[in-house]
Amino acid sequence: MANIHLSNPVTDLYGIGPAAEEKLAKLDIYTIYDLIAFIPWRYDDWSDVGTIGAFDMNDRFDTGTGYDLSFRGTISTNPSVNITSRKKPLSFFVTDGTGRIKLTFFNSQYLAGKFSLGDECFIHGTVSLFNGQMQMVNPYIEKAEKIEDNALVRPVYHLTAGVTSNNISKWVKTALKLCGHELMSCIPQSIAEERGFVSPLEAYEKAHFPASLEEARKVREQLAYEELILLGIGMKLYSAGHGIKEIAEQVIPSDPRSIDPQIAAKWSQIKGNLGFALTNDQTTAFKDVQTDLMSTTPMNRLIQGDVGSGKTMVAALSMIITALMGKQAVLLSPTSVLATQHYKTISKLMQNSGMEPVLLLGKTKPSEKQEIKERIADGSARVIIGTHALLTDDISFKDLALVIADEQHRFGVKQREKLLFKDTAVDGTVKSVHNLIMTATPIPRTLAMVIYGDMATSVIKQKPMGRQEITTWFVNSKKSKAIEEMMSVKLSAGEQVYIVCAKIDKDETESGLDNMVGEPVDGDESVTSVFEMKKMVDSMSNLSQYSSAVLYGSMKEKDKLETMERFISGDIKILISTTVIEVGVDNPNANVMIIMDADRFGLSTLHQLRGRIGRGDKKSFCLLVSESRSEIALQRMKMMCESSDGFALAEKDLELRGPGDFYGTRQHGIPTLRAANLYTDMKIATEACEAVNKIIEAGGEEAERLNESIRQMFELRFARKMEQI
Ligand code: ADP
Ligand code: MG
Repeated sequence: MANIHLSNPVTDLYGIGPAAEEKLAKLDIYTIYDLIAFIPWRYDDWSDVGTIGAFDMNDRFDTGTGYDLSFRGTISTNPSVNITSRKKPLSFFVTDGTGRIKLTFFNSQYLAGKFSLGDECFIHGTVSLFNGQMQMVNPYIEKAEKIEDNALVRPVYHLTAGVTSNNISKWVKTALKLCGHELMSCIPQSIAEERGFVSPLEAYEKAHFPASLEEARKVREQLAYEELILLGIGMKLYSAGHGIKEIAEQVIPSDPRSIDPQIAAKWSQIKGNLGFALTNDQTTAFKDVQTDLMSTTPMNRLIQGDVGSGKTMVAALSMIITALMGKQAVLLSPTSVLATQHYKTISKLMQNSGMEPVLLLGKTKPSEKQEIKERIADGSARVIIGTHALLTDDISFKDLALVIADEQHRFGVKQREKLLFKDTAVDGTVKSVHNLIMTATPIPRTLAMVIYGDMATSVIKQKPMGRQEITTWFVNSKKSKAIEEMMSVKLSAGEQVYIVCAKIDKDETESGLDNMVGEPVDGDESVTSVFEMKKMVDSMSNLSQYSSAVLYGSMKEKDKLETMERFISGDIKILISTTVIEVGVDNPNANVMIIMDADRFGLSTLHQLRGRIGRGDKKSFCLLVSESRSEIALQRMKMMCESSDGFALAEKDLELRGPGDFYGTRQHGIPTLRAANLYTDMKIATEACEAVNKIIEAGGEEAERLNESIRQMFELRFARKMEQI
């Protein structure tokens, strides 16, 4: 097995064929490095070895450690297979001098050939009483001499069907043996020494095969440290053009007196079209943007604001001012529904200004597309709104100065870069554009620092005036009358209702949306699907008279748009959907939202969803329906009922999810982390990134080493995923 590297596919390892490859892919494991980085999410500690005689079931139960026992003993009856029926379980006794216990194995007849009378063994299992006798069913058993010192802390991996923790352990062992020496450290020497960190190879060895829980805990901290450095620093190094002097156009003259009075007049008129005054936070955010647009240093700004806080208005005004100054501005939206909505809002604002925006979607008719492209190329279209369709190679801009991305994490970094870098001049400078990102996901500040690095942020916290607080209630039974009553009261008053479900059909979950917490809901019978809900609504005596419709991501784009339009126009009264409405629909007449199986969603998602209501002047209600009795689920529901602060909820979300969460991180637009917990490890992350930045800026040998290892390890760890997110 020569020439196997960390970047090689897992199938290059002995024992991993196409079937295993497919299963590993489900765990996001493609390369040998991925396998090594797939550290256990917890450990079973079997190192507390006891005796049969001292084992007291009542005592164990009281201390909450369950009925588990590890012990060493001698096989005292012959492990032989029952000849009359091979289906019968294999049973034999083991004694340890203090007592004896019966071991019973189902479907494990092969063990009879492996063990014989008198063998010294190590056993771990759950003790039960059978006819007053102590027994263990299917315990772990191994000959005592084969148990290595470090084998008693057992790694437990997040798994998918068909892959066991033992499989992973075996493969990781081989992977580390073959390629472990290629792992490079991304931690500054001084920090490594101060904290007593070991080599990356040793760290991974200890994470997968720890001698004690304490050792596992210690190396997890090291790996978390490294992971967050990779993310925080690597993200920056990885973005093309890093370190190159970038120049953007000065959009707004620094001396306002030099602005043409006619343009100034048009600007006042457009502001009049708004029909309301900007909130203080909107005004501040827009001022931030204007200041950035006066500079030739490309703007790199994030506008964070809760749903409905009025970010889109700030974006729209920024685009229009750019257009008034004769330059082009682009607004990228993740979905055509959202793009269309932005287009409408902005069209209204631009009324009678002599300019009009253009909208380019994937499904725009070819002839129309051609015309829009021409107008983009000759500069007659200056406010350009669209989806991914804008990122194709055959679009050329006359004078692009500003790119705004809505909910940027749904665009690949690479994709956005296509728009950001235009020309490299002979002197090596790069002509870039001003870059503004709007996000409604309230990212905790500390987290934003790691993800966005040196981005400036403007935060919009205030809600526009006249909004009513949304009242949120927790409903602990799907059969509760309260659900139907709430809907019926509002519907009979002419208002509309959203119902959100965690899955589409029996076995189908919304793909591409990682909103679930806990286990995936595929095939989970207890989760109410969109289609089941539709049937229920149609059969409820108080509700069946109102028109309802379903909405989910995999519907045809045309049908989706039509459904949303009919909901906005009031033709459809009850919209039953998945999280697709999280971004998109703006219907001020919809004032009730029922979220079924609310425990299946993260707090951030729930908050985003809830932001769809409370957009008009009527009282709004959100009902969180969940039959879960889990402590964490209840805490999350309580938090939702008590708080409407997206930032506080996001912090709490990270805290409650805890380590080992598969789904949480991607919601924030970053790839799955293996070792780090974004909540608890945030402090060390910022520290570490600052330290590394300082070293790299200072230059020298250590800087070169870090640069190189971070680049290489980032490539292995995140690069592929960057293209996907
Ligand atoms: P966001 O993009 O942050 O979700 P929007 O910009 O879409 O929020 O604004 C939500 C709604 O509030 C829109 O209907 C918009 O017209 C309205 N709105 C925005 N700013 C104000 C304001 N300052 N005063 C009153 N209404 C506003
Ligand atoms: Mg919006």
